[in-house]
Amino acid sequence: AAGARTIVLEAADAPRSPPEASAPRGAVVWFRQDLRLDDNQAFRAAVRAANRRGGEVLCLFVWSPDEEGNDEGASWAPGEASRVWLHHSLDALDRDIRRRYGGGGIRFAAGEHASAVAAAAADVNATAVFASARYEPAHVEGDARTRRALAEGGIELITLPGHLLFDRDKIRIDMERERYFFGTLMPFVHAAEKFGGEPGAPSPAPPTAPIAHDGSGGAGGVSTLASLGLIPPSDAARDWSAGLRAEWDMSESGASEAWAQFKRMGLAGYEATHGRCDLTHKSSTSLLSPYLRFGQLSPRRVYSELRDARFGTAVDGVEGRRLSRTFWHRLYRREFAYWQLGVFPQLAVTSWRSHYESRGDWRWPERDPAAAEDLRRWQKGETGFPVVDAGMRRLIRTGWMHQTERMLAATFLVDYLHIHWSHGARWFHDYLVDADLAINSMMWQNAGKSGLDQWDVFAGGLAPDGSARTHDPNGETIAQYVPELAGLPPGHLRHRPWEASAKTLANAGVTIGDTYPARIVPDVDAARARMLTGVLEVRARE
Ligand code: FAD
Repeated sequence: AAGARTIVLEAADAPRSPPEASAPRGAVVWFRQDLRLDDNQAFRAAVRAANRRGGEVLCLFVWSPDEEGNDEGASWAPGEASRVWLHHSLDALDRDIRRRYGGGGIRFAAGEHASAVAAAAADVNATAVFASARYEPAHVEGDARTRRALAEGGIELITLPGHLLFDRDKIRIDMERERYFFGTLMPFVHAAEKFGGEPGAPSPAPPTAPIAHDGSGGAGGVSTLASLGLIPPSDAARDWSAGLRAEWDMSESGASEAWAQFKRMGLAGYEATHGRCDLTHKSSTSLLSPYLRFGQLSPRRVYSELRDARFGTAVDGVEGRRLSRTFWHRLYRREFAYWQLGVFPQLAVTSWRSHYESRGDWRWPERDPAAAEDLRRWQKGETGFPVVDAGMRRLIRTGWMHQTERMLAATFLVDYLHIHWSHGARWFHDYLVDADLAINSMMWQNAGKSGLDQWDVFAGGLAPDGSARTHDPNGETIAQYVPELAGLPPGHLRHRPWEASAKTLANAGVTIGDTYPARIVPDVDAARARMLTGVLEVRARE
């Protein structure tokens, strides 16, 4: 099922004993995490198939929480922030389809994938359903199941590339030789380019499309978007999703605008400033992650424009990939994450280097109330370490964190609180608008030192005590997200309020232990030493 690229579209698309040979035959496009019209190969194929036979295209979305993931298993269903994003991005796509093509927009269905898809196919007399391939373990298995069930009714599920640049199943690595050295990116870059196929040029949205009119009528568990229940009810006591809506334009045009803005304003400076999270956060990094996650921006569009020497006057015709090698390589790192998930489907739940599960320094919140309380304080941004708290509060408020903040927060949970990385991964999964099973799991494994890559345990550059504060020297993000410290003078005292004099604290209205929490880890050096002992002890077993 994962080998989506092996499907030959033309052959699959060929006529085959239709239920009513004379009736116009339509096609279904099943949107999942490819919520765009630009460079959407599945949408284009559906339009082509329907045009050829004078039929209509039925645009479908199916919400089936049980099939989206398996909380006990290796894939998780979309978290809270992802569901909010899904709701609003589907709403925008539905409107875009109606505005651009007419017809009935998207049919929203709730219930089992196979029956909702089969009902949609019957309604437009389709024998072909087109979708962009998905790569999470639950989705790979689910698509294989749905494909078999549909085939029994003479309907073919045709999955096409679109979420990734390269064919991850063709990328060959000698894992024995590369074992534990492969975590560095470059061997993967070379292997992807050698074996993964050429991503190809992006194609624009079709100018016209015969979209079916019965978007939200008919059989098969058909619902409205609102009734899918993706967003909290508006009267919910804690409607934090308002913060997400305020922060993001969750539409495809929001994605194009973010990309255009980054090309204009961010890319040329990315190499120098991508580690900073204090710069007006619209420019130090691209903010493309949720759009790539939900497929509102085609990675192939980004890739091809970065390669294009006619990149634009703003950057003097220099190829984007040469403007910033680091940004270019971020795209490969995303592919690398999906490749890792393919090789090791348990990536989200258990250590790749399995002996790291038994690290002596782990604390388990499931059975240790003190660890559970520390985890809670980390989640809420109440650790008493301003850089950690600023990142964690930004996460809840906006659904996003800068990569440096993510690394600081992850390091703090794992190296200083000694809480197993999977607890952090799970929290991020629920609250990130870009929550991506592959990337999130890969990065948390790295934080736990148990992934293919390992963050350097000796470097100490991610200390929570503000000793390495180059990413935000004045503590601007601290002032923004930990407002109770905003009265402290810009600079190191915002990072280390415990070093401020009684007078400075009083002037800023800060009482440590009252208006702002006391440090959850009083002795950071001892905590790091404990982590080092735990890691070195398991390393000795390698
Ligand atoms: P930019 O720096 O502009 O990067 C451009 C794009 O490259 C990103 O949108 C993303 O698609 C990709 N990218 C960037 N960094 C990485 C990386 N380290 N690995 C793989 N792809 C990358 N990113 C997610 O998209 N989803 C996650 O769930 C996620 N979880 C993370 C968890 C931890 C503990 C850490 C340390 C990082 C995580 N990241 C995750 C990676 C990274 O932090 C975000 O992609 C980035 O901060 C998003 O902001 P941006 O789009 O402005 O990034």
